Amino acid sequence: MRRRNFLAALLASAPLKAAQRPVRAPSNLKITDVQVLVTNPEQAPMTNYVLVKITTSEPGLYGWGDATCTGSELAVAQMLEEHLKPALLGRNPMELESLWQTVYLLPYYRSGSVHMSAVSGIDMALWDIKGKVAGLPVYELLGGKVRKELLTYRSVGGRSFEEVEDGVRRLMERGYKVIKVQVAPPGAESGYAVPSSPRVEQATREAYEKGLPPAQVWEPEPYVRTLPRLLEHLRKRVGEEIGLLHDVHERITPSQAIVLAKAVEPYNLFFFEDPLRPEHLDTFRIIRQQASTPIAMGEIFVGIWEGLELITEHLIDYVRHDLAHVGGITAGKKIATLCEPYGILTAWHGPGNISPITHMANCHVSYAVPNFGIQEYSVDWKAGIDEVFSAKPVYRDGAITIGEAPGLGVDVNEAVARKRPYVRRMRPTIRRADETPWPY
Ligand code: MG
Repeated sequence: MRRRNFLAALLASAPLKAAQRPVRAPSNLKITDVQVLVTNPEQAPMTNYVLVKITTSEPGLYGWGDATCTGSELAVAQMLEEHLKPALLGRNPMELESLWQTVYLLPYYRSGSVHMSAVSGIDMALWDIKGKVAGLPVYELLGGKVRKELLTYRSVGGRSFEEVEDGVRRLMERGYKVIKVQVAPPGAESGYAVPSSPRVEQATREAYEKGLPPAQVWEPEPYVRTLPRLLEHLRKRVGEEIGLLHDVHERITPSQAIVLAKAVEPYNLFFFEDPLRPEHLDTFRIIRQQASTPIAMGEIFVGIWEGLELITEHLIDYVRHDLAHVGGITAGKKIATLCEPYGILTAWHGPGNISPITHMANCHVSYAVPNFGIQEYSVDWKAGIDEVFSAKPVYRDGAITIGEAPGLGVDVNEAVARKRPYVRRMRPTIRRADETPWPY
């Protein structure tokens, strides 16, 4: 046997596992259905997931995407079923960029969180199909792994400095190298990512039972005074080695953001997240001129064009876009490429209120871009998640990894998911003490 024929015969007989065998993509491959499944595996607040399944004319070939937009879940489901699905039926799922542009331009009044979350879910499902056709994980299609594991962080919140310190120590013992720290200011009964007082907890439960948004009160001045003291406390107690970051969650004014970015400089934050609302982008220039604190922004942007000047004027250090809202893997890869010549790093949004499908998508992009910074995986999922989703990122010693399955590498148990339907658990309304509405 000639050498070439021998190699061909060897390759043809090499036993590939069934799940890894490439599916042939005929040129007339067609999308036959787009199904939307809204599920809440834990039947808990902030965990309604809007899942998209795109089925094709090739038997057994389908893709899953995540179109979750907490606060607008059912609007996204309707957007997909009524307003975008008809444009996908009968189209070739391999023409991913063309289909992305089609569903983006289709409504004419485009963009916005509902539309772009729907586009994101479609995009992820199409990448899943493309990976299964190729027999490769999506990160291979994006250029291949640039790193073997992904540096990650998670959050600690407390009602006192000591409570935060205890939480930081517990995570350090588990190997975390970077930790997000949040503390309730004196007198505050609630806050972003900190435990509420028993009174607010009780009122929140009652609001949930009635299907109403809970109410929280927030005053920015005590918070601005408290945060530098928390960081000073932690640096004295847990040292300089551990990476610390903090999320302002847009809860201060532009002038307070400048004061705070300067005040936290001595504590060497990994990054200072979302100091301002996206409506106040011009003020990032002033922060940049006055403070060296690294700044991260992007989780509520809904398109690669939003906040563009933060990148092109190098006003931030980390992009935090949410791949479930910004346009999926396609948009994430484009944003990372745009950031690369500016030295801006990625830190894709990774909270528990987006499904494991987006967390897997985050990892595929984070593996493959040269300018990776860190991957948030700030999740405290219970057992219900594993009954619905076949995979999620795996944490070990300060980093996360995913497997080598083709596509996104996560399947959905539809029967279980349908038994755990949507529950209305609204986000809280945030108000100042004088009742002025304030950002979440
Ligand atoms: Mg954030």
